[in-house]
Amino acid sequence: MHINDAVFLEDLCPKFRLRQWRKSIHRFTGKSCIYCGKPSESIDHILPRSQGGLSTTENCVPACLSCNGDKSDANALYWYRKQKFYDPRRAMAIRAWLEGDLRLAIRLLQWANPNSKINKKNCKIDESKYKAA
Ligand SMILES: [Zn+2]
Repeated sequence: MHINDAVFLEDLCPKFRLRQWRKSIHRFTGKSCIYCGKPSESIDHILPRSQGGLSTTENCVPACLSCNGDKSDANALYWYRKQKFYDPRRAMAIRAWLEGDLRLAIRLLQWANPNSKINKKNCKIDESKYKAA
């Protein structure tokens, strides 16, 4: 059989792929909102779709409904700076995420919230250098 004849479940069912992708986004942060740390219930576009933002992993972050709704079509970094729960480490994490450096983003989030449920086994984050600081 030629490789091009192979049928993948994901191709047959785009919804399945979308669901898997959304799940993986939430898993990166241990199902917590990248902005405030509450449970993430939605996917937020850092650069809003109305401004040409794509539905790629780099541009999509887990967010709670409150942050997602409040941010609406604003630029995420600009909006986040004005929030009560602003944390510069999270702002750096959002920037790293946007640049595609998820490992750095997760490390920064963990630093901002050491008690989070981020799965250390999956991410293999080295915290030691932050503890020394
Ligand atoms: Zn939030």
